Amino acid sequence: MTHIEAIQQWLTKNQLDVAYVSAFPDIKYLTGFGSDPIERVLALFIFPEHEPFIFAPALEVEAVKETGWRFPVYGYLDHEDAFALITEYLNQCTTHPVKWAVQKDNLTLTRFATLKEHFPTMEVAADLTPVIEHERLYKTPEEIAKLEVAGKWADKAFEIGFSALANNRTEQDVAAEIEYELKKQGIMQMSFDTIVQSGANAADPHGAPKKDLIQPNSLCLFDLGVVSDGYISDASRTVAYGPVNDHLKEIYEICLEAQLTAQDAAKPGMTAAELDHIGRQVIEKAGYGEYFIHRLGHGMGQSEHEFPSIMEGNDMVLEPGMCFSIEPGIYIPGDAGVRIEDCVHITADGCAPFTHTPKELQTIPLR
Ligand code: MN
Ligand code: MN
Repeated sequence: MTHIEAIQQWLTKNQLDVAYVSAFPDIKYLTGFGSDPIERVLALFIFPEHEPFIFAPALEVEAVKETGWRFPVYGYLDHEDAFALITEYLNQCTTHPVKWAVQKDNLTLTRFATLKEHFPTMEVAADLTPVIEHERLYKTPEEIAKLEVAGKWADKAFEIGFSALANNRTEQDVAAEIEYELKKQGIMQMSFDTIVQSGANAADPHGAPKKDLIQPNSLCLFDLGVVSDGYISDASRTVAYGPVNDHLKEIYEICLEAQLTAQDAAKPGMTAAELDHIGRQVIEKAGYGEYFIHRLGHGMGQSEHEFPSIMEGNDMVLEPGMCFSIEPGIYIPGDAGVRIEDCVHITADGCAPFTHTPKELQTIPLR
């Protein structure tokens, strides 16, 4: 069953007339066509019985067809009234749609009001977003295969990054070199801006690379990923640039134990909260709990903002096909930061990572 067929079944079961998918990442997930036309209208309409259609800016119609989309795609020119056209096409697919499923977190009030003018009897009978989120939770074997390829590129990126470390280079130099080398090899998009942080800079888990030189005899944190065939990778490694002192080795080993313990424990049947606790307690028992200031992990797939969220309070039961990161960190302001991250997918009896760069503390020789 395709993702769209799953939505069709849900519409039938809930006696809904139409689903209006408005969030661009969800349109990409359901159709294979990814675009962000900003203020222009890009929409996917799904019906219980009739075939779905994409409504897109005219300048993107050919790109939709190139994805292999086998249903209608209708274009509109900038000066045309998009919602008048949508109304026309909708009326060809379903008569007087009343019960609508829309994305409440995405459809603007302006667009809702416009729809309401064209369909005065319409009611928002269901929120579509949680339904798509649920569908996106379970990756198919084809999706897992794509995530594995994206993971291989992340491993490659670490290799490039580790060998780019040098005394006269800045964090930005190293990040730029990683992205440049990957682009030369055909990877045209990173899943997020590459993070390279040396010494105390790594204590900021949301920080960006700075113009600061790579610090000798300190830890250097890399967090990176690529987009490959529409699927992302996301992984972190922390390495020693030159020999480091016992304190840095200690926080590294604690973070590593937390990561390995959680990755060994992840399996179907446990909850996301249980897994977070398993990783977190290693760091807490070692006395560094106050320095682990984010959830253990997040869902991923076509983006790094999916479900399940691996955190306290989330009682979602892990099941085969779910994909998420396991990324404990220890961040000591003004001192150092460590994060070790693999994304994994839940298998029949455990989990398997998408990235394979060794996790034992690597010391890169000073140069
Ligand atoms: Mn990451
Ligand atoms: Mn992550």
